[in-house]
Amino acid sequence: MPTYTHRCPVCGEFDRIRPLSASGAPVTCGDCGAAAPRVFRAPALRGVDPGLRRALDASGASADTPSVVSSVPGRSRRATPVTRDPRHARLPRP
Ligand SMILES: [Zn+2]
Repeated sequence: MPTYTHRCPVCGEFDRIRPLSASGAPVTCGDCGAAAPRVFRAPALRGVDPGLRRALDASGASADTPSVVSSVPGRSRRATPVTRDPRHARLPRP
């Protein structure tokens, strides 16, 4: 069963383990009996694959502070090799 966080206006936040079918039902505080609405938060990312987490972090960092690129990515510095074979001269050119 999942754990849901609720906030009592008097006592503060507390966690309660409840079935998914009862997640929307109202909860009362165990200490004072006041109505305690559910608190919605970002999902826990502890169980995320480390590779996915690195990709998400890199994506977020790239969106905030993109890195400076000094050359076109994907191209090597070496020139295209030139062939000396005379048969290659008869090949169609793009
Ligand atoms: Zn309370």
